[in-house]
Amino acid sequence: MRYWLQVVVATPAHSAIAGPLTYRSESLLSPGTLVRVPLGKREVLGVVWEVLPDGGELPEAKTRDIAGVLDGLAPLSATWRKLVTFTAGYYQRSLGEVALAALPPQLRELSTLQLARRLKRPVVDTSSPQDTTDLIALSPQQTMALAEFDAETLGAKRPALLFGATGSGKTEVYLRAAAKVLAQDPSAQVLVMVPEINLTPQLQARFEARFAHLGKERVVALHSGLTPAQRLKSWLAAHAGQARLVLGTRMAVLASLPNLRLLVVDEEHDPSYKQQEGARYSARDMAVYRARLETGTGEPCRVLLGSATPSLESWQATITGRYQRLNMADRIGSTAPGAGEGSAGATGLPTVRRVDMNHQPKHCVIAPPLLAAIAQRVARGEQSLIFLNRRGYAPVLACHDCGWKSECPHCSAFRVFHKIDRTLRCHHCGFTERVPRACPSCGNIDIAPVGRGTERLEEHLAELLAGVQRPDGSAVRITRIDADTTRLKGALESQLASVHAGEVDVLVGTQMIAKGHDFRHITLVAAINPDGALFSSDFRAPERLFSLLMQAGGRAGRDAQRSAASEMWVQTFHPEHPLFEALKRHDYPAFADQQLTERQAAGLSPFGFSALIRAEAKTQDVAQGFLNAAALAAQAQQLTGHAHVTPYPAVPMTIQRVANIERAQMLVESPSRVALQGFLAAWQPVLFEMRRQAEFKSLVRWAIDVDPIAI
Ligand code: ADP
Ligand code: ZN
Ligand code: ZN
Repeated sequence: MRYWLQVVVATPAHSAIAGPLTYRSESLLSPGTLVRVPLGKREVLGVVWEVLPDGGELPEAKTRDIAGVLDGLAPLSATWRKLVTFTAGYYQRSLGEVALAALPPQLRELSTLQLARRLKRPVVDTSSPQDTTDLIALSPQQTMALAEFDAETLGAKRPALLFGATGSGKTEVYLRAAAKVLAQDPSAQVLVMVPEINLTPQLQARFEARFAHLGKERVVALHSGLTPAQRLKSWLAAHAGQARLVLGTRMAVLASLPNLRLLVVDEEHDPSYKQQEGARYSARDMAVYRARLETGTGEPCRVLLGSATPSLESWQATITGRYQRLNMADRIGSTAPGAGEGSAGATGLPTVRRVDMNHQPKHCVIAPPLLAAIAQRVARGEQSLIFLNRRGYAPVLACHDCGWKSECPHCSAFRVFHKIDRTLRCHHCGFTERVPRACPSCGNIDIAPVGRGTERLEEHLAELLAGVQRPDGSAVRITRIDADTTRLKGALESQLASVHAGEVDVLVGTQMIAKGHDFRHITLVAAINPDGALFSSDFRAPERLFSLLMQAGGRAGRDAQRSAASEMWVQTFHPEHPLFEALKRHDYPAFADQQLTERQAAGLSPFGFSALIRAEAKTQDVAQGFLNAAALAAQAQQLTGHAHVTPYPAVPMTIQRVANIERAQMLVESPSRVALQGFLAAWQPVLFEMRRQAEFKSLVRWAIDVDPIAI
């Protein structure tokens, strides 16, 4: 017998082949089967997508045979294939790209024999029938949240949003919800997703310990930090149903999990859930979609999102009732619930102090009262965390004689001065040079740093705190954690460990330290210069700032004993800004309410939908010209949905040039998600076609970003 199979293979984003390819097979293979097929002169991995009806005409005389089947691997499920199809369609990418990117890279390289060997290792059942873990007693709020979550499981099964203050014990809720699902059904699987930066060995160890009774290798991690071999191993365990709990980052949302019953998305507002290249999917949104798909197969599958500062999209969904909301306002260990000045019902959170920078000495970096507060903490043996969202020593090096600045020759951006190795580094293209001895333009030897990054802040603090002593009379210890200090593997872990061990008094860093870490000895957190986001052209900037400051504040006073005296300082020229007012009261609902009112008036997300089309070319003219011409063509051809879709004129991107490539973007908005989707799907072929025109020959690439998170 002969069968004709539609096989999906990895196709380059802009090649003409977008859909599945047809191959011939001697045996009947089910959809989802992994195969090797010839493609040109190569042999590539593919997934059988469909089997063409038997007995039909030979599709094409030169149809080739599949080269082999990856024996021993169960076919990928219909639900998984639906998820991939949805993702490719929604985010406007090819099926092959999404499907193959979701598989571990090693599957492509291993021979059938090597794979067979990997699959052979039997999993010994080491599970013990009884879960004997000593569990901590849940707080009343945790108990309530779990009870409400369970009650819904029996009914409407909406997605749930756990709105819980930092330190309210959300992780314990995830663990209990997962435990329940796993105990109810011996084949059930749970996926827990966390932002890239939060996936620490400690968290993994905590999950492994909790589910140790399930037996060895039942909890696996899936993220980009794994070696190819580890990633394959985790993926295979999940695919075979051996792994009962997968702990991973955004990529894990596309893992093959044949018995998935619960998806947890921790810190669901975190921007790292949005993939920023290739298929720019939102793993959070896909988790919600996937739960619905899985439920469609018969067994209920729920999704539990969690955050202290939910995305405004998820928050709005709880207001309309599309999502279930579970509230945990208080920190674990905080006593009098719901009381306290400036706490809006949340207890145990740090006191917020705004420093009006209009009334501080000119050019001062750290206001005197803040400095005094830090010094006081040092003297008491407590830790402070000082947060500035810019790494390096100074963002610019400048000559005051002729006005020369350390621009990157390849980008429309300044190169950042890194004092430690006396380099100028471009944070966009990576171009690095040693600092010139004199101004390259006029020869003046007096070139000086302008502005301030974490490296300079650390140096400055060391000077300011030089005379301050620790309780035992020794000198203050300052350390810095940012992308520069953590380049080496293991560096972040060891630096964090020294903070935890109390070997640091003042910790300076970027947003890297503001999120997630469970620091026990920090009683003061300070944001040095957060004002930029208040007036950004990106409408999501205030949302990100608020969440970052709440997160950063959440690092203070995590040890309940110290929480009463813990403080969050904000230096600002706009102390009356509503964002800071809400922050002072730890009042996310008030902040969200104000933002949502503004967004509704402007038709912005979640009340409107948008996509960005980006184009890159040798010249800005070509990049913009391409986008504008495509918009005109869409109008002229009356594409699906065009009447409900507004394309704005193309504009240069904020960083207009990177590595000598000019970049432009066009915003496309619609009040209707369906109209926008229809329009984009119809527009794709127009864009492909346009690209072939001679005038756009120098176009390097273009791509669509659906539901972009930064504009
Ligand atoms: P969140 O994720 O909400 O910020 P965590 O889950 O990190 O909070 O919990 C904060 C701290 O409280 C952790 O150290 C955790 O071990 C502890 N904790 C959580 N639940 C309880 C509980 N029921 N009793 C005692 N301690 C708890
Ligand atoms: Zn000069
Ligand atoms: Zn550059």
